[in-house]
Amino acid sequence: MTAAGDRLGPTLFERSRPGRGGGKVPHPPKDALARIPAGQLRAEGPRLPEVSEPELTRHYVNLSQLNYAVDTGFYPLGSCTMKYNPKIDEWAARLAGFAALHPFAPDAVAQGTLQLLWELEQSLAEIGGMKAVTLQPAAGAQGELTGILMVRAYHLSRGDTERSEVLVPDSSHGTNPATASMAGFKTVTIPSAPDGGVDVEAFRAALGPRTAAIMITNPSTVGLFEARLCELLDAVHEAGALAYMDGANLNAIMGRFKPGESGFDVMHINVHKTFSTPHGGGGPGAGPVGVGDKLLPFLPSPRILREPDGRFRLETVGERPTSIGRVRAFVGNTGVLVRAYAYIRAHGASGLTEVSEDAVLAANYLKARLSDVLDVPFSRPCMHEFVASAASLKAATGIRTLDIAKRLIDYGFHPPTIYFPLTVEEALLIEPTETESIETLDAFVEALRLIVAEAHADPDLLHSAPHSSPVRRLDEATAARQPNLRWSAMTGSQTPCPD
Ligand SMILES: *Cc1c(COP(=O)(O)O)cnc(C)c1O
Repeated sequence: MTAAGDRLGPTLFERSRPGRGGGKVPHPPKDALARIPAGQLRAEGPRLPEVSEPELTRHYVNLSQLNYAVDTGFYPLGSCTMKYNPKIDEWAARLAGFAALHPFAPDAVAQGTLQLLWELEQSLAEIGGMKAVTLQPAAGAQGELTGILMVRAYHLSRGDTERSEVLVPDSSHGTNPATASMAGFKTVTIPSAPDGGVDVEAFRAALGPRTAAIMITNPSTVGLFEARLCELLDAVHEAGALAYMDGANLNAIMGRFKPGESGFDVMHINVHKTFSTPHGGGGPGAGPVGVGDKLLPFLPSPRILREPDGRFRLETVGERPTSIGRVRAFVGNTGVLVRAYAYIRAHGASGLTEVSEDAVLAANYLKARLSDVLDVPFSRPCMHEFVASAASLKAATGIRTLDIAKRLIDYGFHPPTIYFPLTVEEALLIEPTETESIETLDAFVEALRLIVAEAHADPDLLHSAPHSSPVRRLDEATAARQPNLRWSAMTGSQTPCPD
């Protein structure tokens, strides 16, 4: 059996048989090879597997059926907004006029795409309460970097060269401190208040002439709306710093809270999370960034401009010298942006507000139903997700969050996010999204209830879970540090992760 179990079967390289192939070239001239100049002939054939087309098709279709996907089941991965992605958005992204447009097409023949992107910028600006938006960043993390680079450009443009620090709460996503470091700032981590919110007094104490920006996630990564946000933003601006909002949790607040209007100077939006693009497999995504007045001059170039006659064009090189420049090739991940546009237009303003209300309702329902199954450290009503903890269960049975997550796979569910945020012991961050039925939510509660009963009755069953998946429990540290991702002929002793 391979490391992946017997449901995976041999690789294409192992299936290869000399001379087997797919397509046939009809009637090649006998001297075909002789006609190719000697210098352009390969010394040896390419080292590709030789398989027939049906073998190839079955191999990949079988592999695809081992994937867990939101199209096959519930996927409550906190902070990731794994909602069902409507198929009409896929249809729109595949329209040839968008999908087949050459990235170097002159503006005159790209008017439809430019108009769609320009209108998407307007919609996202409206949703976020921002003045303008760039669609270039390829993901939330790159959106953060873009935003913080604009913050740096802003301070430097004012001759304010002493601002070397970015403040982040200890519950922040790892990309926040990484962004600050990449942009050349020192990260100052601020502890959370006991109620899970930001500690405004601790922020106040850390704010000063060296603070370039604070980065706040609202609702926070424990699923709570920041109750003292206005106080905090006032203090930030009084100190001459800027406020960055990590907008990954936008799915909780659409139509209810506009970060730009509340005083945030810049935010990114993970459109692959909130506005539909399948994103479990690592991309592509998009991380548009919205700015207020202060950062407007620094937006990446080229911006998409609308001329007085209604035509659209891209800024020319050097047209706006204050820009931080380009952060990505062309105008962004257009396919993802077309999906976001289709999603927004299909919902309309009232539909997007309902999305957020339903997402919050679903999370509060799950939280209430699970509060006698797991610890729920924060009692305040949650937003679109909530954090639970297995700390008491661990103390009673030795069963940890990891065991629960692995056992959920046997019950047919994707596990929630685990061990994040770092501020909660044995954390499970659960985000049901608005697209799940009450029956699905109830089935998830029932599965967790059964698992907790198993933890008391048969802990070994959980320690060794999952039992039904093609890949059994791996040594995750080895899998992360020494991933074996390339096939090569291996002797038995080299076989990775023997089981
Ligand atoms: C997902 C996420 C990010 C990073 O976004 P990517 O699009 O994955 O790069 C940043 N912050 C929070 C809170 C997130 O959930």
